Amino acid sequence: MRKPIIGANWKMHKGTPSEAEEMLVEFIPMVKDIKNVDIVIAPPYTAILKTLDTVKNTTIKVGAQNMYYEEKGAFTGEISPSFLKKIGCQYVILGHSERRNIFNETDELINKKLKKALDNNLIPIVCIGEHLEEREKGNTKNVIKNQFNLTFDGIRKEQLKKIIIAYEPIWAIGTGRTATPEQAEEIHVFIRKIVEDEYDKDTAEQVRIQYGGSIKPSNAKELFNKVNIDGGLVGGASLQAESLYQIIKAAEK
Ligand code: PEP
Repeated sequence: MRKPIIGANWKMHKGTPSEAEEMLVEFIPMVKDIKNVDIVIAPPYTAILKTLDTVKNTTIKVGAQNMYYEEKGAFTGEISPSFLKKIGCQYVILGHSERRNIFNETDELINKKLKKALDNNLIPIVCIGEHLEEREKGNTKNVIKNQFNLTFDGIRKEQLKKIIIAYEPIWAIGTGRTATPEQAEEIHVFIRKIVEDEYDKDTAEQVRIQYGGSIKPSNAKELFNKVNIDGGLVGGASLQAESLYQIIKAAEK
């Protein structure tokens, strides 16, 4: 059975150590008895060290929201996978739609980052998802298949099993407009089928696929009840301890 995983993508919020600490000090006691859900907090870079320190005696893991694919060098403003790994991060979000759309990240770039993240033993949370116009034109599955093929090009079976795939329909991110559980499940089944076709059934059954897009305490349970939805990547609702906790509770199997 796949263990659900909830990622808290804080985006460009709670970037000071004290803001991160304040939220976590409230949140940590709430989740102390949660055992069968993996929890990952992805704060801005400037709050990562404080987050690592604050969660150090808990089961909560820490991730970054992005990274570059080089180890070091003249890449002003970038962060390398080995920096993240060495300070204690275990996860990294790659290919978030805000990175793709605002910062023009391509599938090819995300593929390079993905390989380097894996080389550094970071667990990548890789986001894929369609725009509203693509859904309305009936192109969702073509878009997802194409993103999958380019983003996961050259990734081996054992590597894919470790990766978390986040299906995030772009029209549902930060809009308050959630995919229905049926819409989300349909694409999760589709992604699992791609994995089966490209790899094998065992890999398809093992890989965890999160849903992301306006998850809230009020809609989390019905999404996570779907067989192929293994938790979620949560933006806005991950900023308050209570709502993040409620979402995590909803993911418990
Ligand atoms: C996200 O940032 O990955 C996300 C899903 O955001 P929100 O929950 O705010 O839609």
